[in-house]
Amino acid sequence: MKKIIVGNWKMNPPSVEEAVSLARAVAEHVKHPMFNKNVEVVLAPPFIFLYKVYETLYGGKVKLAGQDVFWEKAGAYTGEVSPAQLKNLGAAYVIVGHSERRALGETDEIVGRKLTAVLEAGMTPILCVGEPADVRERGMEAAKEFVGKQLEVIEHKVFEGIIAYEPVWAIGTGNNATPGDAAEMITLIKSLVTSYRLPIPVLYGGSVTSGNAGDFLNREEIDGLLVGGGSLNAEEFGEICRGA
Ligand code: PEP
Repeated sequence: MKKIIVGNWKMNPPSVEEAVSLARAVAEHVKHPMFNKNVEVVLAPPFIFLYKVYETLYGGKVKLAGQDVFWEKAGAYTGEVSPAQLKNLGAAYVIVGHSERRALGETDEIVGRKLTAVLEAGMTPILCVGEPADVRERGMEAAKEFVGKQLEVIEHKVFEGIIAYEPVWAIGTGNNATPGDAAEMITLIKSLVTSYRLPIPVLYGGSVTSGNAGDFLNREEIDGLLVGGGSLNAEEFGEICRGA
């Protein structure tokens, strides 16, 4: 199976010019003849940069993702972005339930509505799950129970999307999970959720760098990476992608 590497730019960079030049530099890495054809690279810029990044990437191999989405199709929802609008700007994927969204009040119910909306619009959701630090401190079994509960948003346990296991304590902290623990959790996730196009891809995210990416990507249980900070520098992100 192809490894999938998603760069989540979060609320970066500060200008559209920088967004375009970052996207162009990533596309150059992916275009290189030596670049591993079995790696799918996806960029998730802020909404306001999507169109320019789409133009920059047009005709190339790098795919686009939204960082979030609203669940309604259209209407009076000031400040929100609909699945159809994202698709129209070239997004093939949408991140749903990122822990930074959950920290701002996004509930499992909202996550579930967003998953349905993304699937109905014909895009692929990337559902983020992961336990907070206080749960992980109680041990791996507590973490598994927490993640298992988060996966209950998936109706009938069938999911035509991607899941990213992102322990909250590992995001942006420099404190990554061990590849062994990540693989163990990912194996559990794969046992709890199925898809009509088995096997379901499950990524790891949390303080991935060019120094540790290969350790995750070399594990056959781990189908790719969701990278935040490490995706904001094209050289570093290129190195991470070459780790596959
Ligand atoms: C993320 O944004 O999902 C993430 C994992 O961030 P970082 O790589 O910076 O930990």
